[in-house]
Amino acid sequence: STPSSTTPSAGAADLAARLDDLRRAYADLQARGLKLDLTRGKPSAEQLDLSEALLALPGAGTHTAEDGSDTRNYGGLAGLPELRRIFAELLGVPVDQLLAQGNASLTLMYDTVVQALLFGVPGSERPWSREEQITFVCPVPGYDRHFAICEELGIRMVTVPMTPDGPDAEAVAALVADDPTVKGLWVVPTYANPDGSVVSEAVARRLVSMPAAAPDFRIFWDNAYAVHHLTEHEAKSANALDLAAEAGHPDRVLMYASTSKITFAGSGVAFFASSPANVSWFTKHLGIRSIGPDKINHLRHATFFGDAEGVRNHMRKHREILAPKFRAVVDILDERLGDSGVATWTRPDGGYFVSVDVVPGTAARVVQLAKEAGIALTPAGATFPYHQDPDDRNLRLAPTMPPLDEVRVAMDGVATCILLAAAEATAS
Ligand code: PLP
Repeated sequence: STPSSTTPSAGAADLAARLDDLRRAYADLQARGLKLDLTRGKPSAEQLDLSEALLALPGAGTHTAEDGSDTRNYGGLAGLPELRRIFAELLGVPVDQLLAQGNASLTLMYDTVVQALLFGVPGSERPWSREEQITFVCPVPGYDRHFAICEELGIRMVTVPMTPDGPDAEAVAALVADDPTVKGLWVVPTYANPDGSVVSEAVARRLVSMPAAAPDFRIFWDNAYAVHHLTEHEAKSANALDLAAEAGHPDRVLMYASTSKITFAGSGVAFFASSPANVSWFTKHLGIRSIGPDKINHLRHATFFGDAEGVRNHMRKHREILAPKFRAVVDILDERLGDSGVATWTRPDGGYFVSVDVVPGTAARVVQLAKEAGIALTPAGATFPYHQDPDDRNLRLAPTMPPLDEVRVAMDGVATCILLAAAEATAS
């Protein structure tokens, strides 16, 4: 299934006529005194329980890595080879081009950008911070924390639209070809946050082969949801590193992933993969920053999974928990809003979010109405740089954390809020 991309219109003439009914429905909703939360893209406790055995691993007396080294000690900067092997297979990258590090891929992304600012990357003429201006291309809607990194570090952001096949590649190509200040592009290639789209092979090829005005242009390929399928249709991520090398731009792609939504969100393992030149650049700075990562955590994860198939099997258990929640979100939206013409929404095959486009100018109002009815939604604008959705129309729903019955109740309430906000806009 593909994410929808049409703009909803408040054309339904009878909507304004329903205003009184919708106000009554909303008053009933408020009277229920709900306290529900669809803001957090976190795993539920039931999902975390799937990995409970990790807490007893590797176990006292079990601390020797496959190569004979003692995981309790310093060293092993690249991370434990047995764990890197498992994730190299899953991410489709060579083991020696994959680093296993700390608990957060976001940290690795932040470090990459900071190191680029301080030192430049391979191919840079000077540190990025010595350029008059640095620009990143930000597909929208997108991941708020990518935009926060740019905002904090003074990197200008320009937006391009998302499509069902990933970022609008022609729009990206035009910006990257013309503007030497464009040094970066954020991409979530698989089950994107928030619209669930998957970068097609054609889009991946275009992004890695397009001419760039900046010789040190980089794609931040954040494959956070590489194995996070919600259906039996398991999307395969385009192999960006191979494609970039084939296209003659081996250093263009910086790949990130983690087990945050595989094992424990706070105590997982993060990965970085790239060309040999980028990996050695990153490792050089990493070695100043740390003597080595938490290899006991690496060993615990390697033992827990056994092999790549172990990860795939584990993800099927997540799917069993998550698929009914996502189905509930989509079913309720279909049922309540299906023929209203006031919203479009995605039907993700994986990842953690459902993206809803409401009547332009009403997203913030929907969030406010929901809040006043006891349903917390991610603030409108969160999926755009500087928290500014120019059309005030995108909502990000995160159904993973609450129990299924709460997801249902919350979504029914959200549907009422979307309809009421649309009716108010039409009537005014
Ligand atoms: N990348 C994307 C696209 C995400 O949605 C998230 C979490 O929501 C992260 C990265 C965070 O990953 P980590 O926990 O490895 O820092």
